[in-house]
Amino acid sequence: MLHVNDNFLKLPGSYLFAEIARRIKVYQQEHPEMNDLIRLGIGDVTQPLVPAVVEAMHKAVDEMGTPEGFRGYGPDYGYDFLVNAIREGDYAKRGIDIAYDEVFISDGAKCDVGNIQELFSEDAVIAVTDPVYPVYVDSNAMAGRAGDYVNDRWNRLVYLPCNSENGFVPSVPDRPVDVIYLCYPNNPTGTVLTKAQLKVFVDWAKQNGALIIYDAAYRAYVTTPDIPLSIYEIEGAREVAIECNSFSKTAGFTGTRCAYTVVPHEVKGMDAQDNAVELNAMWKRRMSTKFNGVSYPVQRGAAAVYTPEGQEQIRKIIAYYMENARVIREGLTAAGYEVFGGKDAPYIWLKVPEGMGSWEFFDVLLDRCHVVGTPGAGFGPSG
Ligand code: PLP
Repeated sequence: MLHVNDNFLKLPGSYLFAEIARRIKVYQQEHPEMNDLIRLGIGDVTQPLVPAVVEAMHKAVDEMGTPEGFRGYGPDYGYDFLVNAIREGDYAKRGIDIAYDEVFISDGAKCDVGNIQELFSEDAVIAVTDPVYPVYVDSNAMAGRAGDYVNDRWNRLVYLPCNSENGFVPSVPDRPVDVIYLCYPNNPTGTVLTKAQLKVFVDWAKQNGALIIYDAAYRAYVTTPDIPLSIYEIEGAREVAIECNSFSKTAGFTGTRCAYTVVPHEVKGMDAQDNAVELNAMWKRRMSTKFNGVSYPVQRGAAAVYTPEGQEQIRKIIAYYMENARVIREGLTAAGYEVFGGKDAPYIWLKVPEGMGSWEFFDVLLDRCHVVGTPGAGFGPSG
């Protein structure tokens, strides 16, 4: 009989969001009258796609229905029009030069941040901030790099705690690591790093031969001037960082699916003979083998985000989400809670009452207020 990948069996319980969904289901079965829950349990969007995107997608579908406009498989790494819109709109405009073949269009940042670990050796040492978006941890655990899950932590992972004591600014690792995952603006804490704080990580990675996987899925939510929207705003980052971005939170694409990852040519690893290898070439090989591209209408929709109308329309939607964040942040503060985030990210991170666990608080919030939150414990030991 087949030997399965035992690493899957080491994963604790169910994936966080599946457990939240399970608890909601149980609650609703016990309270069938309760069908107007406010669901803040997963970072999903609620507002429809903006008109510029819808129009572009309609047009693309019409094109596909004509002999001249029909397209089959697209380019493995994305259509020129979207790659160039990204290079211009997200980078060149901010003085960052990203080459055409350094951008890889995909169907989600979750897939990219989950799949990128295929490029690392089996024994690579991984550091994550704590709390952390669970995909970085679980994808490495599935590959056997996290060790064993003992007392609520993986014994081969290096955790970089982020809490109110350190102002949610992680320290660089206190031992050698090969990869550091950073997510800013941060899910789940809603906090950001300044350029100077991010530079500390870039410098450390350069000095220690480490790679940074930088997840900037929430970059569109930054309102404070001078907070970096891309790690490539930091000098030297092209040598050490891969950046993942998504249209999910920028333009409501959670159900439409489009994202991209930037792998600069300077980012290198070492093969078994100690030769330097470009991760860009490896990621190209991986994408062309395991991925067949995002659909043409969806890429047209994503490109429309960069038009003046698209930009104007998504700005309004982001302002709407940030207004919700303000209401929640100020409401919780007035109710006596200590809260973080909600200024440059849509997430609010709150300290639960003394003596209460985060799952316990989750249940109380659901039961008393009919609000679904996300328990901090699902994001790592510091959660
Ligand atoms: N990265 C972070 C930090 C996220 O919070 C999310 C979604 O919640 C994703 C990536 C997933 O993005 P996508 O919808 O592009 O897969």
